[in-house]
Amino acid sequence: MICERCDEEGAEESMPYIGVDEVGTIWYHTECQLRNVTGGLKHQRKQCACFVDGADSDPPDGMTRHEEAIEIARMVTQGEWTYG
Ligand SMILES: [Zn+2]
Ligand SMILES: [Zn+2]
Repeated sequence: MICERCDEEGAEESMPYIGVDEVGTIWYHTECQLRNVTGGLKHQRKQCACFVDGADSDPPDGMTRHEEAIEIARMVTQGEWTYG
């Protein structure tokens, strides 16, 4: 299935989605759902719009959103991710 958050194949988890006039299912990668909670690498590095005027929250150069999410999952698992 296509991941709702990064538009890449291989999404393995789903959750119900209830819209205004439709009920459906959203598919996503576990790590992409995690990224949705933690924020991106630029947020972690204080390089996003939360910290820098006019900055974006896209993945760092050369990374897809899915690759970024995998890296975030790795950092969280290894205790390298700082919260707050
Ligand atoms: Zn994804
Ligand atoms: Zn941010």
